[in-house]
Amino acid sequence: MNREFILTLEGVNKTFDGFKAISDLNFYMDAGELRTIIGPNGAGKSTMLDLITGRTRPDAGKVEFGRHTDLTRLNEYQINRLGIGRKFQTPSVYIDHTVFENILLSLPGTRSVWEALFSRVTPAQRDRIQQILKTIRLEDKAGLKAGTLAHGQKQWLEIGMLLAQDAKLLLVDEPAAGMTDEETARTGELLISLAGQHSIIVIEHDMAFVRQIARKVTVLHQGTVLCEGTVDEVQSNERVIEVYLGRKHEPKRHL
Ligand code: ADP
Ligand code: MG
Repeated sequence: MNREFILTLEGVNKTFDGFKAISDLNFYMDAGELRTIIGPNGAGKSTMLDLITGRTRPDAGKVEFGRHTDLTRLNEYQINRLGIGRKFQTPSVYIDHTVFENILLSLPGTRSVWEALFSRVTPAQRDRIQQILKTIRLEDKAGLKAGTLAHGQKQWLEIGMLLAQDAKLLLVDEPAAGMTDEETARTGELLISLAGQHSIIVIEHDMAFVRQIARKVTVLHQGTVLCEGTVDEVQSNERVIEVYLGRKHEPKRHL
């Protein structure tokens, strides 16, 4: 295969105590893509992210970043340093530090919290922080303690922290969970604005949100790809409907 993918998972398997959480998984992503992954609970979505970030090791298969970087040989820290950043569902910001400081602390470099906060912020750093705050629309919150932010704003701050780390590939697990409709819509706009410059995987249940952001959707089921396509294609796919059968009369939160 000549095409250069930002991320390749091929023939990946992972068993936990005899249970096949990931089964012959093949997944390919172009650079700059905004890819949405959906699938029922237990489909292996979070495990897939764990395999990418080095939190979990595959039993077999290939996990590659770019053309040559074998992620299965690296630890979580090394993978993060390569530019793969993950946002978990619960925001993990430094609540006692300001929004500005949270971004500052995430900029590359091995300085300690102490050093970051008490050494002089360079003009270049200040510019970069301002630029990120603008992107995540928290410019007017720069001086506020992160603990005082609304839930949605904390999530945006955390995305800003990934940007500050220079993450090329962003892995975002259920960003819309617990958000108001307005926050959800804004989050969608933010992710869309980051696509192209960044490659983004979003795991999401909220189908209204998926519809807002989705280009290509991957449906995961029993640890493997059931189908891929546009939202309309996957929603009308027979096998997908079958997998979700019994839930299809529930409102749009589920497929
Ligand atoms: P999803 O995120 O799609 O809901 P998960 O990836 O969390 O699914 O889980 C897939 C399956 O793998 C589940 O049955 C889960 O219990 C199992 N699993 C995930 N991680 C572990 C682990 N560290 N140890 C044992 N079982 C696990
Ligand atoms: Mg999960």
